[in-house]
Amino acid sequence: MRRGATHVSLGKMKRAAGLLLYLGERDFVMLVNWTTWGALEVPQRIALIDHELCHAGVDAETGKWGLLHHDVEEFGDVVRRWGLWLPDLKEFGTVIRAQLEIFPSTEKLVGALAALAPKPGSGIDSVTISAGGEEVTLQQGDGERIRHGMGVVRGEKKS
Ligand SMILES: [Zn+2]
Repeated sequence: MRRGATHVSLGKMKRAAGLLLYLGERDFVMLVNWTTWGALEVPQRIALIDHELCHAGVDAETGKWGLLHHDVEEFGDVVRRWGLWLPDLKEFGTVIRAQLEIFPSTEKLVGALAALAPKPGSGIDSVTISAGGEEVTLQQGDGERIRHGMGVVRGEKKS
């Protein structure tokens, strides 16, 4: 729970800049809190990576790639007192009602992994997930392969 200044960040997406942008040829950098990562279950890790990837996107107003804000930011106490008082909160409430349990089935977990794969025409060639020495790179088209039970076609172990 997020209370006061003691909130522990699980991860953070940043725009690559300076030498990292120039030498690394990457637009975004995802930072993950290694201490908390180890305590997360696999579905939570996937959700965290998905969350951070949602921060990298195209700004609807400018049409440019950038860091996107959360759909909702609100205090639980305000919602307890006033309910879903804004349109975006109402929409989020609808999503939460539909997903009272996160990843309740393997089918949903597979769907979430497939959703992480870059979509054709998205401008993203690959998404690499690294954890505990294991690394998996999802490329365009992998989402469809995963959805059809063909699995992730690439994977390598870091040495
Ligand atoms: Zn966030």
